[in-house]
Amino acid sequence: MSKTKIVILGAGYGGLRTLKGLQKKHLDVEITLVNKNDYHYEATYLHEVASGAKEPEQISFQIKDVVDPKQTTFIQDTVIQVNKDEKTVNLEKNGTISFDYLVFALGFESESFGIPGVEEFGLPMVTIDSAVTIREHMHQQFAAYQESQDDSLLSIVVCGAGFTSIEYLGELTQQLPKLAKKYNLPVEKIQLTCIEAMPTLLPMFADKLANYGIQKLKDRGVQFIVGTPIKEITQDTVIYEENEELKSIKAKTIVWTTGVKGSSVVGQSGFEERRGRVMVESDLTAPGYSEIFVIGDCSAVMDPESNRPYPTTAQIALKQADGVVTNLVAKLNDRPIVPFTFKSQGSVCSIGNNEAIGEVLGANLKGYPASVMKKIIEDKSLSQTGGLKIMFNKGRFDLYH
Ligand code: FAD
Ligand code: NAD
Repeated sequence: MSKTKIVILGAGYGGLRTLKGLQKKHLDVEITLVNKNDYHYEATYLHEVASGAKEPEQISFQIKDVVDPKQTTFIQDTVIQVNKDEKTVNLEKNGTISFDYLVFALGFESESFGIPGVEEFGLPMVTIDSAVTIREHMHQQFAAYQESQDDSLLSIVVCGAGFTSIEYLGELTQQLPKLAKKYNLPVEKIQLTCIEAMPTLLPMFADKLANYGIQKLKDRGVQFIVGTPIKEITQDTVIYEENEELKSIKAKTIVWTTGVKGSSVVGQSGFEERRGRVMVESDLTAPGYSEIFVIGDCSAVMDPESNRPYPTTAQIALKQADGVVTNLVAKLNDRPIVPFTFKSQGSVCSIGNNEAIGEVLGANLKGYPASVMKKIIEDKSLSQTGGLKIMFNKGRFDLYH
């Protein structure tokens, strides 16, 4: 009799943690992992690559370092579609593969909300390549300024003021003095603007904490325009609405960080979804498909306290992966499933390398202690996906840099 086939799609936080958990169990099954690249990247550091604070190699490692070839086959390919009823997956280069159980963990994409010009002129921050593009684009504008002295080349607009934008601004403001020196331009001429639709910045934190973080960024030269939804992007202009009036700001670098949606493969595969997310059952499977687990940014899990889905984070993706391993083993052994529950440990938002604000296990933190907490959390994530050896190789025990 052929072995049970388990296919994992995506080697991000959710996918790789699931693989590690399953491999540890030494089950008598065939495991296949499919991922676009031959490396895993820590998406939680993309803003550091985009700002130039970190190189791509510092936030990524080879998937083969986690794969046990005796248990798992790794296929480097792009997933096109899941055929839920046929229990097959279409891959771009390797044809169709079949599964008995599937773990769908293809992560997130940039959300444009259908706003005109975003796809053409906005720079998203969702993969290593897109983060590198932001950095290179900004460098090109600074280099061009040396020739033309056109001030719009030094204008950067960051769209939205969620965690991604705030963390990017935190790193960028620390990098700009070095960049100004490199391109021999006056740092005070660089105009950094953040435009947010909602009237309040960082509403998830206590006012005192949010004000501390925002003031840090203002002190470093960031101008916030708040309560002003962006309506359109053109080649070098961001158009937003303020008091029912359209206003615009010129910028040659427009970073699009207004939120994310789940992988478009979710919709392509005909799952019932909202913004690329499947509202999963208590065992983390898709409704009507008890052998298809959906986790990470492609899933939505209701928070019974707020009656809204939990925010999509690496933290919940890692927990879901552990839940999948438990329930997959239960299903293989005809044992009852364990309903997934989640208790957020809190969140920390960095404001550059050595500053952060956060709420962890009910305690408010700010400044350097919060930044140490953030690095500890990130190291824990790396140990859960990669392992201690990879952590050592990356020199990740330094909590200052
Ligand atoms: P991902 O980590 O996105 O992994 C998906 C994997 O699937 C990737 O390897 C990708 O290459 C692959 N893939 C995608 N499409 C295909 C395809 N069609 N075919 C094959 N392979 C494919 N969360 C926190 O908890 N804490 C933080 O501090 C934090 N900071 C963040 C900072 C930034 C700048 C950003 C953008 C996000 C941050 N998040 C943070 C959110 C967190 O990164 C995501 O929630 C998390 O990455 C989701 O994990 P995942 O496993 O679902 O997907
Ligand atoms: P987000 O959805 O959290 O924030 C996007 C922001 O853009 C919101 O404030 C929204 O009001 C604003 N926005 C949306 N449309 C707009 C428009 N038309 N004009 C102006 N502003 C607009 O998205 P994100 O920051 O990319 O984060 C994505 C996910 O990753 C979230 O779940 C977040 O919690 C997580 N994340 C966590 C961390 C961390 O824990 N340190 C860091 C980064 C991201």
